[in-house]
Amino acid sequence: MSIKNKLSLIFTVVVLIILVANNAIHYIRSKNNLVNYNEREISLLAEELSYQVETAKEGSLYVENIIGRELRTASIAIRNSLPANYEDISNEQLIELAKEVMVSHITLLAKTDNDIIGVKSSDPHEIDMSTKGWGYWYDAFQQLFDEKPVDVGIGLTLEDYWAGPIEVASSNPDHTDKWGYYYDGTTNYIINPYLRDNEVLEFEMRFGPGNVMEEWTNNLEGVLELTVFNPKNFGKADEVVHLNGNQYIRISSLPYWYGTYDYMNEEVDSEHIQMAVKSGKTTSYIDTLNNHLVQKTFVPMAIDSDDPYVIGLTYNYDLIQNELNKELKEYILSSIAIMFIVLLISMVFSNSITKPIEIIIDHVNDISKGNFDKRLRLKRKDELGNLARNVNALSKDLETYMDDLKKSQEVIEYQAYHDPLTTLPNRRFLQEKLLDMVEKSAVNQSTVAVIFMDIDRFKHINDSMGHGIGDTLIKMISERIKSCLSFHDSVVARHGGDEFIILLNDSSEQRVESIGKEIITELKQPYYLQGTEVYIGASCGISLYPEHTKDLETLIMYADSAMYEAKKQGGNKVVIYRPNAHINKRLQIETRLRKAIIEEKLEVYYQPKLNAKTNEIIGVEGLARWNDEELGFVSPATFIPISEETGLIQPLFELMMRKSMIQMKEWNDRFAKNMTVSVNVSPRQFLDSQNLVDSIKNAIESTSFPSELFEIEITEGTLLQNTVDTISVLQALKKLGIKISIDDFGTGYSSLSYLKHLPIDILKIDQSFIKDIQEDGLNTEITDVIISLAKSLKLKVLAEGVEEEYQKEYLLKNQCYVMQGYLFSKPINAIEFEMLFLKNEK
Ligand code: C2E
Ligand code: MG
Ligand code: MG
Repeated sequence: MSIKNKLSLIFTVVVLIILVANNAIHYIRSKNNLVNYNEREISLLAEELSYQVETAKEGSLYVENIIGRELRTASIAIRNSLPANYEDISNEQLIELAKEVMVSHITLLAKTDNDIIGVKSSDPHEIDMSTKGWGYWYDAFQQLFDEKPVDVGIGLTLEDYWAGPIEVASSNPDHTDKWGYYYDGTTNYIINPYLRDNEVLEFEMRFGPGNVMEEWTNNLEGVLELTVFNPKNFGKADEVVHLNGNQYIRISSLPYWYGTYDYMNEEVDSEHIQMAVKSGKTTSYIDTLNNHLVQKTFVPMAIDSDDPYVIGLTYNYDLIQNELNKELKEYILSSIAIMFIVLLISMVFSNSITKPIEIIIDHVNDISKGNFDKRLRLKRKDELGNLARNVNALSKDLETYMDDLKKSQEVIEYQAYHDPLTTLPNRRFLQEKLLDMVEKSAVNQSTVAVIFMDIDRFKHINDSMGHGIGDTLIKMISERIKSCLSFHDSVVARHGGDEFIILLNDSSEQRVESIGKEIITELKQPYYLQGTEVYIGASCGISLYPEHTKDLETLIMYADSAMYEAKKQGGNKVVIYRPNAHINKRLQIETRLRKAIIEEKLEVYYQPKLNAKTNEIIGVEGLARWNDEELGFVSPATFIPISEETGLIQPLFELMMRKSMIQMKEWNDRFAKNMTVSVNVSPRQFLDSQNLVDSIKNAIESTSFPSELFEIEITEGTLLQNTVDTISVLQALKKLGIKISIDDFGTGYSSLSYLKHLPIDILKIDQSFIKDIQEDGLNTEITDVIISLAKSLKLKVLAEGVEEEYQKEYLLKNQCYVMQGYLFSKPINAIEFEMLFLKNEK
């Protein structure tokens, strides 16, 4: 995910989390607040309601008392209309009288022995009705008959009069009545007028608490129901009264007194009602009733009185929930709006970071493609601005660096392909150019000519006049060659030393020959060097592509050999290559040999050197063996002279030395021996003596071969070539700690005094003298001399080419113990040598 998206996402998620948390907290707090507020409201409401109920109750009691008084007035009117003895009164008379005084009925109560009963009445149910079981009512009747003021603690007591509270009629529980009882001692009965049902209940309906509650329920939002519970009876079994053959529930025992009870939940409500009364505190709960989520609140009232009651308020909780939902919706909407704004801001913000980064990345990509000239233009003062400035500085530095690099590359390339002295193309350039030209000529079917040119007598001038002059001369020569070729499609290169090669495109043999001659003529003109007139000559060899060969290496070699031929013919000549079987073979060997050396295909064969007295192998001579894929086995007698002529002898020596050192080190380590190994050094190698010394030093170091076990064999002829030089080279070699032996000793003409000064270790008697030793011990003079010479010079002596037992015997007898020859072993490969060694050790 990109930083841009990541930043926006992180911002948004963080804000989202904050908003959700905030909303949740807010929601919970709102809910609590709302609920608390509601509870407080409901409590206040209940208090207010209780006050109203109380007031209404008082009001209705007042009105009830007025009715009580009216019933007394009616009672007095009735007494005045009736005789003193009830027996003189008929029920019908009472019916008429009731109508007259506007009461529902009139009953006359009289004493019996142990009861007070209804004796006459306009209501047939009341006749013969016993009142003994009526509790305080009965007490009140007795007090009236005793002409005492009634003090039963309930109802209205006036003179000779008592009005009971409104109650269900026990004589006929279908009705609710208000009774008055009058007795002034003038009659034998209590006058009992009463009002029934509507007349009683109407005022209750108009002035009583029920009316107040209904009004509240209708007018207060959310209030579903109001109930005034009777905690004594609510939730309990009905308190049924059995009186006068009837059964009913007294008003005071009703489970609730006012209001409605439609949201019924008796068990739970009863618990809460009891709890409220007991604790004197409001309680509430939430539940679903009649498909409404409601909150029911119970407020205890008048708990210290005899008749405590509980106001129940059923509140529509959906209103709270709706309120909360509304609030939540508003929050969510505002959150979405905030989120959107945050998203927008975070996108703008992250864009302000990532946009410049993108610009910088594009710019860096540009730089990586090598466009250094552009500059970043970020007008910012922050880290990104800093980065942009640094990138600019970097790209500027890189530009300079790349320019320098390009220049130095050009210089290196130029140097790699040009000769520093003449500024002419060098050998490498030539090879590539030749390949290029040949490829083109193959397409155009044209020819390519090679002129191989070597300056005659240059070595002489170099040696006699010094290298400085030699260099000046080479420069002049190259200028002259160039001037001759200015009109030709050609390339001239310095091949090395005093050799030049010219490549000519599409030229006939005659034309190339005449150009060669032209150059020779030009070069023959005198040169003035340090005031001296100098003359040189040049030999040119020409080969043609594809006429002579299609192989480029061979093509140059052919031109070289033709040049060689020109030299042979006295120099200052142009010779065109002519196929010659002998030269060809030699060239083929040279080419193959070069390849074999590079690919390390030459093998080392080991010829043991023994102490013939003990028959112990004390060392080996490493001899080169070459079995070529094309040429088959080539004898050292053939390839050694060729390698000497072509300069391949030094690399060949290095290969032999390294291979035999590695092999001998392994044998010595494995067999715990100190065998020596010798390698032949050719006289040619002394021409570059420094190279020879360095190469031996390197080989010893790189293979960690003990120097005292390494030996070089040089022929006596080598010693005689260049005496002063050779001595110093031998001394340098001795310093490396190696041994030097003189090979084929006796065939040259070394003087004794001379030998004495040489740092040599071993004389190898040439095999021709060993061959001379005859069975009868004759013809041994030279061998004898060499042995005694070695002895007197304190040199070791070794006899080469020992083939016969008698030769060995003779040599042993004459104290020449170290021998090498077919008698012991031919030169053999490493595996064969190992077998021979192990057999010999047994
Ligand atoms: P050399 O150094 O004198 O080596 C001894 C030659 O005599 C070897 O011939 C060997 O096989 C041969 N020889 C040894 N014992 C006997 C014997 O009992 N009877 C006869 N008839 N011959 C014996 P090879 O290997 O053919 O080498 C010939 C020459 O080639 C060597 O003469 C050496 O001068 C040269 N040569 C060989 N390998 C190398 C080399 O790696 N570097 C140089 N510069 N020259 C080498
Ligand atoms: Mg040898
Ligand atoms: Mg030899």
